[in-house]
Amino acid sequence: MVGESSTRTVPVKLEMGESAADRLHQTIDHFLDAANHVVDVAWDPDWKITSKQKLHDQTYYDVRDDSPLPANLVQSARNRAAEAVKGCVERWRGGKKASKPHFTSRFVSYDARTVTVNDDHATLATIDGRVIAEFVLPDESRDTPHAAYLFNDDYEVKGATLHYDEVEVCFYLHVRTKPAVENDDTEEGDAKYVSVLGVDLGITNIATTSTGRFWSGGELNHWHREYEDRRGSLQQTGTRWAHVNVQRVGRKQTGRFEQMLHTISNELVEEALENECTHIVFEQLTGIRDRLPHAKAVHKWAFDRLVEYVTYKAESEGLVVKQINPAYTSQRCSKCGFTHENNRPHNNGQDEFECLKCGYDVHADYNAAKNIGLKYLRDQQKSGRGGAPVGVRLNSGMMNVNGEYSPTALSG
Ligand SMILES: [Zn+2]
Repeated sequence: MVGESSTRTVPVKLEMGESAADRLHQTIDHFLDAANHVVDVAWDPDWKITSKQKLHDQTYYDVRDDSPLPANLVQSARNRAAEAVKGCVERWRGGKKASKPHFTSRFVSYDARTVTVNDDHATLATIDGRVIAEFVLPDESRDTPHAAYLFNDDYEVKGATLHYDEVEVCFYLHVRTKPAVENDDTEEGDAKYVSVLGVDLGITNIATTSTGRFWSGGELNHWHREYEDRRGSLQQTGTRWAHVNVQRVGRKQTGRFEQMLHTISNELVEEALENECTHIVFEQLTGIRDRLPHAKAVHKWAFDRLVEYVTYKAESEGLVVKQINPAYTSQRCSKCGFTHENNRPHNNGQDEFECLKCGYDVHADYNAAKNIGLKYLRDQQKSGRGGAPVGVRLNSGMMNVNGEYSPTALSG
């Protein structure tokens, strides 16, 4: 582990236009609101919650609903709140006094995903896209911390904190850098670490993750049925105008579906980021209409788009997207590994999985999503990638390649 001592923080004065400054101020307001809200939740009268995972579970969706902050900044605000509460608990343990933290000084914590530091400017995530902030650098360029750490290839930017200086009336960016050589140890360790979000695709639920999130296919199915009915009645009239109308209904439908699939793919990528996954794993789509007898062409089209959109968005976040051969992922018990076609009692409805061996009773899509994640990890192990710690993210912890479960994978 690299100690904090190797971190060098370099303050850089920023310069920007009025609209960029305005967006940063609004982002700070929302960041402080989010961090203070998480402290409120963490600060239970009887006990203090310091686990980032627990605080995530109890605050993430509320904050996302109420706040325009992008997902990564919601996560940063939660981390800052968790660290502040943890700091209080540690002070108490050391016999010192500490009162409930409240963030008032104007700042935003950025990580490598939300800030990009260039030679003469940085781009920063805000509530409304990124802003560009120019650096105001000292005229004398030698022997400055900027020359030593910021523009030195031996150092790497790990993140930054944006501060607003009320006295100078300007923004400062405190850029955190670490020696690149030492980074190799930690960064490579991180890169080898594989944590998978498994995604099952279906008709009732268009997507289900191994963390237990479901996206209903209801709207798609409803629109599709209406479209088919309308097309049927229009085609019966048989005129040229009817043909034009059919195309128009089709285009309108396509636009609505695409928009919905963009939203779902954004949320899938967010789900992976929030659970600190490195990979998103889908099943291969070849033959999916054979595996899902009720699937229509529109479902295959939607699955193709969804995988395409997620791949595109995930790559820009540094996540890897893979597809596995889905054989037996719906028949296998994700708890004990027992595989049998009757594990899924068809007479009890499609939604239920019940293991004939261990009795594990769970939503069938959730079971399949976990198996999809596990399948990828087992394939990796077979191809000689053992050794590295690997796991599938679950809604309340993490499962490793052997199916062993650890409930505290993210506590900290
Ligand atoms: Zn079982």
